[in-house]
Amino acid sequence: MADIILSDTYNELLNEVQSLQKTCPLSADNVVLLAVVKQQPDDKIIALLEAGHRYFAENRIEEARCRWPDFRITYPNIELHHIGALQSGKVREAVGLYDVIETLDRHSLLHAVQKEAQRIGKVQRCYVQVNIGEELQKSGVLPQQLESFMIQAHAASHIIVEGLMCIPPEGKAPAPYFALMRNWQRQYKLPALSMGMSGDYATAIRFGATHIRLGTRLLGERS
Ligand SMILES: *Cc1c(COP(=O)(O)O)cnc(C)c1O
Repeated sequence: MADIILSDTYNELLNEVQSLQKTCPLSADNVVLLAVVKQQPDDKIIALLEAGHRYFAENRIEEARCRWPDFRITYPNIELHHIGALQSGKVREAVGLYDVIETLDRHSLLHAVQKEAQRIGKVQRCYVQVNIGEELQKSGVLPQQLESFMIQAHAASHIIVEGLMCIPPEGKAPAPYFALMRNWQRQYKLPALSMGMSGDYATAIRFGATHIRLGTRLLGERS
């Protein structure tokens, strides 16, 4: 029963994303729906995997490590993104576990990821997280430091920066922030732009998001 409701919601969302893509002139050609599965039970994840979905995001390593190595064996071609703050001490495990780290947000993390990726001979796909609202409590590279950070990131041999990611300030209209993000994405010629959550994904698509991160809208309330 839960599976049926979930697959209805999933198909509904895919249709909505597709029609937004078609009607909005600034939207990306292929918007990826990332299922944010933090604090969600395994059976919902399995229902999505069975429906053919392959794009997922987690925000805590402790949760991710328990399920994805096994899911990957059963379901090929999963793409797993990390969207939470990443402590430098957990970089070794993160580089082993994730296809994309979306939260590259400081120089020390950049160096730690580079070092570990080089050690195991992997090129780690990353997005740079931008602290778009310049909020003290949020992580991310400040807009005025983005350029120098991008230069450093491009110089790292075992990191490929594929995109930018942001979480706009709560309680403010997100559109102006999304528009700034899109400008930087174009300026740096990056393929990916991860923005938009359950409350603002339609606006994010209108402003060119390539990856929307949906938790509650897709999977219901977290435990
Ligand atoms: C939890 C989380 C989401 C999903 O949030 P919902 O509002 O449940 O869609 C998206 N992005 C990040 C970074 C998150 O931590």
